Amino acid sequence: MSVDPNASGAEQEMAPLKISCTKTDCDDNLHCFKATKRLQEENRGGACRDCGAELVDWDRVHERSVEDVDHTFDQLRLEFIRHHFWHAPIDESAVNHARRKGRTLLHAAARQRLLSSVGRAGNAFDGRQTPFTGNSIYYAQHATASCCRTCIEYWHGIPQDRDLTDQEIDYLCELVVRFLDERMPELPEEPHKVPPRRHR
Ligand SMILES: [Zn+2]
Ligand SMILES: [Zn+2]
Repeated sequence: MSVDPNASGAEQEMAPLKISCTKTDCDDNLHCFKATKRLQEENRGGACRDCGAELVDWDRVHERSVEDVDHTFDQLRLEFIRHHFWHAPIDESAVNHARRKGRTLLHAAARQRLLSSVGRAGNAFDGRQTPFTGNSIYYAQHATASCCRTCIEYWHGIPQDRDLTDQEIDYLCELVVRFLDERMPELPEEPHKVPPRRHR
């Protein structure tokens, strides 16, 4: 999948950075671990699909231990798309959305979002259900590989062919909430009135 959030006319030239799930910049140590058929056939799933580097301790990441989240985050940031969302400025309407909710309600919304977007098996739109802008929870989902069942399977070791358990939702929610807290440390606990954005 390749999505350019600014894919319209002249704006495109001003936004040269196209994001896609399989983008890499291996020279800069930013890879993509989504296996190709060939890697899978060679039993090398988990290596970078471009340069072949084996950098992730998959057994350790797949343990889904809350005590080991820092390590998991370091490993996630070796992947181009995760690294991008970890560092990309959160867009204005997403920040406004977060401030209107406040931290407490945003955390609750994150759980609801995980349930509705990836909670069930067999989403026909899998891989396309999580937009790239407009909501800080989307940034968190891409950064933590909880955006779709494909990413959840290879990053977190959860098979796609069944619904997520409560425990798995709890774990993914923990990753998302930690991302939100780290990226928006100033977010007030309580909801705030934020006037709607003026369209220029
Ligand atoms: Zn690579
Ligand atoms: Zn995904």
